[in-house]
Amino acid sequence: MSGSEAFDVVVVGSGAAGAMSALRAAELGLSVLIVEKAHKFGGTSAASGGVIWVPNHQLVPSDDSREKAFEYLDDLLTGDINRSRLEAYVDRGPEMVRFMKDVGIDIIPSAWPDYYTDKKGARADRSLICSTFDGRELGDWFPLMREQYSRFKVLNRYSMDVMEFFAMSTRGPGWINTFLNMVQRYWLDGGTRAISKRDRRFTQGAALMGQVYKRVFDRGVALRLETKLEELIVEGGKVAGVTVSNFGRRYDIKANHGVILAAGGFEWNQELRDRFFQVPGLTRHSSSPEDANRGEGLIAGMKVGAATEHTEAGWWIPTMHTPMPNASNFEEIHQAAFDVGRPHSVAVNRLGLRFVDEATGYDAFGKAMVEDQLKTGANTPCWLVFDATFRKKFTAGGVMPTLIMPDSKIPVDWWDHYIFRADTLDALAAKIHVPAEQLKKTVANMNTYAQTGVDPEFGRGSNPYDQMFGDANVKPNPCLGPIDNAPYYAVAINCGDLGTKGGLKCDEHARVVDEAGQPIPNLYAAGNQSGAPFGNWYPGAGATIGPAMVFGFIAAGDIAARTGNQTKSKTGAALAGA
Ligand SMILES: Cc1cc2nc3c(=O)[nH]c(=O)nc-3n(C[C@H](O)[C@H](O)[C@H](O)COP(=O)(O)OP(=O)(O)OC[C@H]3O[C@@H](n4cnc5c(N)ncnc54)[C@H](O)[C@@H]3O)c2cc1C
Repeated sequence: MSGSEAFDVVVVGSGAAGAMSALRAAELGLSVLIVEKAHKFGGTSAASGGVIWVPNHQLVPSDDSREKAFEYLDDLLTGDINRSRLEAYVDRGPEMVRFMKDVGIDIIPSAWPDYYTDKKGARADRSLICSTFDGRELGDWFPLMREQYSRFKVLNRYSMDVMEFFAMSTRGPGWINTFLNMVQRYWLDGGTRAISKRDRRFTQGAALMGQVYKRVFDRGVALRLETKLEELIVEGGKVAGVTVSNFGRRYDIKANHGVILAAGGFEWNQELRDRFFQVPGLTRHSSSPEDANRGEGLIAGMKVGAATEHTEAGWWIPTMHTPMPNASNFEEIHQAAFDVGRPHSVAVNRLGLRFVDEATGYDAFGKAMVEDQLKTGANTPCWLVFDATFRKKFTAGGVMPTLIMPDSKIPVDWWDHYIFRADTLDALAAKIHVPAEQLKKTVANMNTYAQTGVDPEFGRGSNPYDQMFGDANVKPNPCLGPIDNAPYYAVAINCGDLGTKGGLKCDEHARVVDEAGQPIPNLYAAGNQSGAPFGNWYPGAGATIGPAMVFGFIAAGDIAARTGNQTKSKTGAALAGA
């Protein structure tokens, strides 16, 4: 590697984990390069909801505490959990949040109930978001940040924040004005329209990544797009750099003090899915950006002796597919997490049986699909069955409510492939090959539950999380409405994902360890590149980006501490890990 260019730290991957690693390392005085394989930066994180779960975040006065955080986590988490890593996450999370505030990132609380409201210590104030950000502040980088998932924009154009998302998706009070304001703001912005179709108002994941990258670029961090990690370079028993490729040109980059692998999960690698997952599913069921995260950092780490953990599952989310407009042979993935729990619908496996509280958190829904598939072999995919009342009010993946997309506007080639319709449940059951008697029995049960307001099988709509996605006009239970208004419809539900939960095994300092538990010198990992501190659990909204950023922060602090010449960050916060 002699003659190669050198940086103190090389970060692989430009998502939330990579961005926070880079920001913290630069703040601590280290020279940093981020290499990003894609043609756009920001990863899944920029396309996400941008919610960050940090228990006891201390951003505003609250009676949450370390003890209460562990009360919840201890009641929830099962399986092989590394206690020191979990403690590092809970203990260092508030420090990372303070650091974000200190560098000027506008981070604010967002009222999401923890995903398991029945567990001890569950609360509704542990999720954080960033306020909207003017993307033009990124200068020439503005059009190069990865765009948001189409469902997170109105008509795939106008960006919306979380409150606007709720107002629009439930057509809550004032939603028409909200929409008109968006349209007006966008079209009055002639300067931006001359550059790009993109809305300069960055919201959700784009707001988070915009705010972080503004500070990353201000601190002189270099970012190279279309630059893919090929392998790690080991010299003298230490990771000394990376070999990357750019349009086929391979070259080496030296990392004086550390390489932080933050190249996401392996959800787009079918071979790794088949090898690791209990129920592999298909790469195209994933809702992370197509073909970006193929586990290349994981493979590179394993080649230099790294151990792995928690690779058996994804961060699950039900997805539905529709043909992509104006593109042959492509399907568009639609997350259906909030559709499947709406009233006037039921999710059934291919035997016509329910298997879950449909309004539960999306990861729990996916886990239930996996468990039911292992038990019955008749799930993945399963079906969302609904009636004309649901159809009128709610989305089913890419199928918009009739107000926007009446049946007459559904493309003719979608019928009986992506969406099925029949005048009776018998006829619908025949079309989707589900036993009619069982389907009718399941629907009859749901209609009884809609009357009583109680779902004795799975408790649908019985807790604050479920109710958030119900319909307040439906009584007595906002998640249970009769399924009795013909015609009836069905759309297939795939066990999709937001990324993968497992990866390189790391310790509490975010150092990658080998099979003997020993750190591999100079090698760190964060985000979906590493095993989640929660194992196969998703405790609350933001529980993937939260650890991604906290362990990126920890990794950078550990590297800076090892260099021995850093004692204070420029913001005056005590040096992490020192
Ligand atoms: C629509 C959607 C909404 C979501 N909302 C939320 C939310 O609100 N809160 C939450 O916690 N989670 C959310 N998630 C999940 C979350 O976005 C991801 O788990 C998280 O962003 C992963 O962060 P990361 O930094 O590990 O990886 P990523 O953000 O995926 O970044 C990894 C980067 O590494 C790059 N890369 C891959 N291989 C290489 C290579 N060989 N060389 C160089 N670069 C490489 C990729 O191109 C990518 O840019 C959402 C996911 C989706 C799809």
